[in-house]
Amino acid sequence: MNAHDSEKVIGTLLREGYRQVETPERANYIFYNTCSIRDKAEQKVFNRLQQFKRDAGKGKVFAVLGCVAQQEGEKIFDRAPHVSLVAGSASYTKLPQMLVQLETGNRRVTGLSLDTEETFDTPYTRRDNPHRAYITIIEGCDKSCAYCVVPFTRGPERSRTSASVMEEAKRLADTGYSEIQLLGQNVNSYHDPSPARWDFATLLDRVGSIPGIRRVRFTTSHPRDFVKPIIEAIDSNPNLCNHVHLPVQSGSSRVLERMDRLYTRDEYMERIAWMKDARRPIAITTDIIIGFPGETEADFEQTLRLLDEVQYDSLFSFKYSPRPNTAALKLPDQVAEEEKTRRIMILQERQRAIQIRRNSALIGEVEQVMVEGRHESLGQWIGRTSQNRTLNFAGRDTEDLIGKYADVLVTRAGPNSLVGEAAIN
Ligand code: SAM
Ligand code: SF4
Repeated sequence: MNAHDSEKVIGTLLREGYRQVETPERANYIFYNTCSIRDKAEQKVFNRLQQFKRDAGKGKVFAVLGCVAQQEGEKIFDRAPHVSLVAGSASYTKLPQMLVQLETGNRRVTGLSLDTEETFDTPYTRRDNPHRAYITIIEGCDKSCAYCVVPFTRGPERSRTSASVMEEAKRLADTGYSEIQLLGQNVNSYHDPSPARWDFATLLDRVGSIPGIRRVRFTTSHPRDFVKPIIEAIDSNPNLCNHVHLPVQSGSSRVLERMDRLYTRDEYMERIAWMKDARRPIAITTDIIIGFPGETEADFEQTLRLLDEVQYDSLFSFKYSPRPNTAALKLPDQVAEEEKTRRIMILQERQRAIQIRRNSALIGEVEQVMVEGRHESLGQWIGRTSQNRTLNFAGRDTEDLIGKYADVLVTRAGPNSLVGEAAIN
């Protein structure tokens, strides 16, 4: 989502008459987009700002955008006096006005209000990838997971109208994009604010029915708002990728309750059962937090058992990281760092074995990939399957396949990717 925010900010700047340059040295303005979901993000930002100033700082205007900007606010001006603009994502619609203030010499410009109903839609997005495009359909978050800064940094939940999403998707299809990824902190909490009142499953299906669109992905889904019609849409529309990222965070209902996740392990497993019962084979991936305050060995064991039960195709695991303003900061029984490390290594090892098994089961199958790039040194194309697996393959060397679709016979499998050969059609 941050990467896409940057694409929209760059598009807005270009529209206002600015030009993008290759290196910070050649820039007059340096915009630094930031994330604060984990770790000591603030510290990293200040270190980078210092470094930029030393290396390339003379006479330049610095701006800090994104979640660290929102979180630290005007304190950034105190710690990094060479910064002139501090703005969170909920203020990006006001960027043109903020730029005018900068141009007229104002050296303390802020955009920090979270009190907004607006989403940052712009037809001027400067997309990095010519084949796969992101579209944000919902911004912010109204949930309050005890560990998470997002509600404090990205503001309240607000959805775009279905008409504006469809218009953007059609425009992208007309300009040659064939894959669209719908984005939102909780993409499936989408509520169309227009009288059309489309739900998320309807929007998904309609985007996947636009002529020229061959693949639609969506991320991230919240289990509480994950309803059966989403699976039904995937089942009936082959343009919807058969992959669902459904973060569980923990396999223990006790921990889920302390996290304020709004579902139990059983409720989560019910959604997994829907996916396993689907007509198309749906790849399932997740996020897991290890060492949330109060997580016991027994809780952790339950997370491991959940991995065995679900058999995820891939997962992201994170050590719990205390974040400013969040409820979990006040919880007792913080888990020691070494213990988090021990647990996360066990979890990753367990998952690695599952992935080797699952990926190996695909050997001998033919999968369709979208070609995303080329490893010249390996003589391989880099492809991605509908289930979101990387499938690198040899063959069809005389063509430029990037952005095209190819059928590939899977010949080898590792824990994180597959290898194959272009299939003879
Ligand atoms: N909205 C999504 C959901 O509810 O599942 C998650 C969005 S969050 C930007 C991405 C992931 O970061 C989360 O799923 C969680 O695993 C991880 N995360 C968030 N806060 C964290 C924290 N304080 N420490 C460790 N991981 C965290
Ligand atoms: Fe953060 Fe929870 Fe909102 Fe996801 S649902 S963004 S984890 S508060």
